[in-house]
Amino acid sequence: QTPISQLFSQERPLLSVEFFPPKSDDALEKLIESADDLAFYQPDFVSVTYGAGGSTRDRSAKACELLRDEHEFNIMPHLTCVGASRDELAVTVNGLYESGYRNIMALRGDPPKDSPSFVVAENGFAYASDLVAFIKELHPDISIGVAGYPEKHPEAADLSTDLRNLKTKVDAGASFITTQLFFDNSDLYRFLEEADKLDISVPVIPGLMPVLSLKQVKRITSMCGASLPAELEKHLNLAGDNDELVRQIGIRWATEQLQDLIEQGLPGVHLYALNRSDVATELMSAFRSSVE
Ligand code: FAD
Repeated sequence: QTPISQLFSQERPLLSVEFFPPKSDDALEKLIESADDLAFYQPDFVSVTYGAGGSTRDRSAKACELLRDEHEFNIMPHLTCVGASRDELAVTVNGLYESGYRNIMALRGDPPKDSPSFVVAENGFAYASDLVAFIKELHPDISIGVAGYPEKHPEAADLSTDLRNLKTKVDAGASFITTQLFFDNSDLYRFLEEADKLDISVPVIPGLMPVLSLKQVKRITSMCGASLPAELEKHLNLAGDNDELVRQIGIRWATEQLQDLIEQGLPGVHLYALNRSDVATELMSAFRSSVE
């Protein structure tokens, strides 16, 4: 397992893919099978999300292990502060380290569904920056990724406040930033300009998610605060119930975003592939053509 911070010196941009742990063990096995298709495109790292309130913790760990052992992917397990004390977090971080992982995506996490706002666990952490500092102290050689929000985090008053908080995470020891999904690259470019003014100098990997249905994208954007450009929404509305057409529109939009980001010299692209190897492989293939 290689610290991601060591990969940015390579000449071409990095490619990463995010999985979420499926709800059943059968589905988990299927995910591992479909990862075969992705292995062909040799992602530089693969990240695995961590469920709120412990709901998917064991499956997250199992998914990391299987993806690493079956495909030798460089893994970035996600970790959140939700419902965990410092001692519990130390056990998890040490366990990941002893299992050989050298990357962690450090997050505050979202509140569980039945709770309207984030609650700090007893003897736990209020912000991702606290978790970053904690991991750094335990294992300075772990490469830590943190979340950035091109359209600001939903709880933040404005982008500049959110960016100051992002700067705290970087100063605490984060090696790079992966962004929340966005559909308009100009939002990312504005975010980068503002981040630059605050001397946030670690690499920023933009996160892309292809739209697969209007319902799905409305649910996701309402949760994460990303906006849906009117032009994309218009195309999706015209496609209506034609699922295949919607899929094609979503992949074409994300591909155009990806090509523009590579042209602009971004240090990598992160794909929210929604555990769908068909979607991921189309975008990964577009990535390979763009960088070669
Ligand atoms: P923080 O950086 O702590 O920020 C949370 C809020 O607090 C922001 O509004 C920020 O501006 C504010 N803030 C930060 N520091 C301070 C401070 N010192 N004082 C005052 N305000 C402050 N969620 C999961 O549950 N599991 C996952 O695996 C997961 N993976 C993700 C991967 C990526 C790439 C992204 C972008 C998000 C992911 N999330 C995941 C969602 C994330 O947990 C939520 O967006 C969460 O609400 C915020 O997490 P954070 O790490 O950005 O928090």
